[in-house]
Amino acid sequence: MSEPQLVKRLEEAIESIPDFPKDGILFRDITPIFLNPDLYEDIIGEFVNFSRGKIDAVCGIESRGYLFGIAIAVALKVPFVLIRKAGKLPPPFVAESYDLEYGSAEIEMRTGQIKAGQRILIHDDLLATGGTTEAAAKLVEKQGATVSQFSFLIGLKDLQGENRLKDFNAEIFSIIEY
Ligand code: 5GP
Repeated sequence: MSEPQLVKRLEEAIESIPDFPKDGILFRDITPIFLNPDLYEDIIGEFVNFSRGKIDAVCGIESRGYLFGIAIAVALKVPFVLIRKAGKLPPPFVAESYDLEYGSAEIEMRTGQIKAGQRILIHDDLLATGGTTEAAAKLVEKQGATVSQFSFLIGLKDLQGENRLKDFNAEIFSIIEY
């Protein structure tokens, strides 16, 4: 967890919307953060402190994983690689599918954008069940790179997403947990 003052400012900024996008889901809306450049800057600082000296590239998960992921990569002067939902990247790419509550989904990454042996940070805005992030980590390993770290703005503790990431033996960091 992070500096208490930052967590408090984040709690105030993040809006919790009941029954979106489906009944029974409490959606955490992060869009108000981007109205406040000072808050955004401090969040990036927190992520950068976590990853400094420990990674060779950042892989961000579409689409909210791009919002902070690119800024983290630029600050650390390492490459940023996009992980996209199926059908959006031109070939060649590598793909990994994962289960959803109903059906399945696929994510993809351009081949050759990460290199064997690199230490990778996988970043997304929110860790829920961990399904998306686990698939992203498999994509990274498929290419011979190592997942060294996972970072998220928000971790939803009750959904125990961290359990699905344990096997990667990587550091896991969420700035705020609910
Ligand atoms: P998981 O695969 O861990 O169950 O779901 C994580 C993915 O769902 C993330 O890519 C995240 O962007 C999205 N997600 C799920 N619930 C929420 C939510 O309440 N707020 C936001 N901002 N994203 C969510």
